[in-house]
Parts: sequence; C-alpha cells; structure tokens
Amino acid sequence: MFQPERLIRPNIAALVPYSSARSEYCGTAEIYLDANENSHGSAAGNGFNRYPDPVQKQLRKRVATLFNVPEESVFLGNGSDEAIDLLFRIFCRPGIDEVIICPPTYGMYETAAAINDAVLRRVPLTAEFQLDVGGILNTINESTRLIFLCSPNNPTGNLLRRSDIMAICNAADCIVVVDEAYIEFADCPSLLSEIPKTPNLVVLRTLSKAFGCAGVRIGMAFANHKIISVMNTVKPPYNIGTPAAQLANAALSRLENVESWIKEIISERSRLAFALGTRRSVECVFPSDANFLLTRFREAGRMYDFLISRGIVVRDRRRLPLCEQCLRITVGTAAENQTLLDAIDEFERL
Ligand code: PMP
Repeated sequence: MFQPERLIRPNIAALVPYSSARSEYCGTAEIYLDANENSHGSAAGNGFNRYPDPVQKQLRKRVATLFNVPEESVFLGNGSDEAIDLLFRIFCRPGIDEVIICPPTYGMYETAAAINDAVLRRVPLTAEFQLDVGGILNTINESTRLIFLCSPNNPTGNLLRRSDIMAICNAADCIVVVDEAYIEFADCPSLLSEIPKTPNLVVLRTLSKAFGCAGVRIGMAFANHKIISVMNTVKPPYNIGTPAAQLANAALSRLENVESWIKEIISERSRLAFALGTRRSVECVFPSDANFLLTRFREAGRMYDFLISRGIVVRDRRRLPLCEQCLRITVGTAAENQTLLDAIDEFERL
C-alpha cells in the first residue's frame, strides 16, 4: 500500500504549521483586533482591509462540487504553478531527491526543479509524443519522488495514453503528477476519477485556460486527502487574495460562456489546422487535443520574425527536443486566426 508519508521531507513531516490570526478564530465577531489590519477601511475598496480566509472554505467547496470530489481532496493555489513548486518543496530534499520529466514538456517542471535543487531525470517522449513507459520505469530509483506527466502535453498538444499513465501510477512508488491544464479541450475524461483508487496520483487543473481566468491566478491540485493536507499546511497562509477568490467564485457560477468558448476553440482548432496544413511554408501541423497547434515550418525562424513584424506573437519552440522548426500557435478567435493565416500568405508571397 502506497504511503505518501514515507516520501515527505523529514522537516516538512515535523513542521509545526504557521497559525494565522484568522485560522485560530473561525466564528463571527463584531470587532476584529487580532490580525493588525486597518479597521478604518481599505484604499483598495470595501472589504479588502481584512485578510482572506486561509482555508478558502467557500471557493474550495464550490470547486469540490463542480469537479465532483471531496473538499479534502482540493488544494487551491496561486495558479497551478504554485502547486508545482509546493510539490517540490514537500517531497524533494534539495540536492538529494530526484524527479522525472518527459521532454518536450511544460518548462516550469524543470525550472521548479532547478529552484528547489532537485535532481532532474529526463525520459524523452517517443517520436509519436507518447510516454516511454519502460524508460520511465527503469529511471525510477529509491530517490525518485515525483514524476511529471502533462496530458494534453504542452507544447505537443496531444493526450498521453491513459493506460500508460495508469501503468506508471500503479508501478511507481512515488508521486505521479498529471498536469491536465488543457483537458477541457480534449475529447477524453479527466483522471480525477482515478484518484480514489490511486493514492500516489496528483491531478493539476487550472482556471487559466478554458475558464479564461489566466489573470486571476487560480490553479487546483486534486489528490488523496493526505497529500492535500500537507499542501495546505505548507502553502503561504493567504496564498489566494480576496479579489481572486471573488472572481473565481463568480466565474465558476457562470459556466455557459466557458462551454461555448470550448466548442468554438475546438472548431477553430480544426479549421486552423486544416488551413495551416495547406500552406507551403508549413511542413506539418501536429494533431492537437489542446487549445494550441504545434506547427513545423520550413523556415520557422524567418516565419517567427515575420509574424512579429506583423504584430503577431507565437511561441518559438525550436530549441526543444523533437520540436525542430516548430512554433506553438494558440488557437485565437476566428478573426485572429484569419489574420495569422493572411500574414502567412503574405510571407509566402515575399
Ligand atoms: N501547466 C501547463 C501544462 C501549462 O501550460 C501552464 C501554463 N502555460 C500551467 C500549468 C500553469 O498554469 P497556471 O496559470 O494555473 O499557473
């Protein structure tokens, strides 16, 4: 039976959590003189003079209901990037413990590993951008603490095979983090439903993509309550500000827009992929289950510079393994996508 306690850094296991004024008193009082706030009011507007709820009761409840999971399985962070960093801080003894990533993938796993001085092991994706399951299992040793899998993967755009992910979860005696930042754009259910029977699985989700709240900064980690309880103990007490919590609550109560955006983005994704595929400057467009298209150009560097000169910025991914001559293009509105295609046509006429 997998025991996350065994993997937790000893200093974290022994941590006496910081007890904030607001976490010690949870009733309703008339006068709050416990947290050294400004009782007169706030220069930022009504209510902002008070510290936010450190346990984020209201928002966690809403997220738990929406994603159909128990509240004890929900961690809310200042973006899912905060959850990524916390997982390193909880599980990886600096300079000693190891993490596995599968490049090309989201760059933050590597950056967070460097910040936390974790030993990084790279097991590249196969030429089809799928997991090298044997390679990952052979790389695991007694120092391995975290394996990061991203599905749909950034920047390749494809889903990883669910059976591969589950095989790794079942065989690995460490934490497997599956980053589903783009899952709403894929025709495939989330791995959230696997959490009850997979105690080493952490699923990351975010409000930054399909929900259109990148500026709000709310990300979620879902896992077994033991892992989530440590994450909630280690996080800064007020990691989610009152405006972010209010905006996220409001966003999650108006999901009609989100559903129609997802439909529109998926349909624009096929239109844009088809149109790009007909352009002579494009060598290939990789199939995408996300809201972007990894596109291989004949001269990606010249194309990138030309698009910049036309006021269009895409993401240069040429330096990542398996991504030679590739730019990553976010699927925008129909008008934005058309402007991009027109610019590519102009490039081809040069
Ligand atoms: N995971 C992946 C795969 C991403 O691409 C991104 C953002 N580009 C994130 C996580 C970070 O999301 P957030 O805005 O929630 O920090």
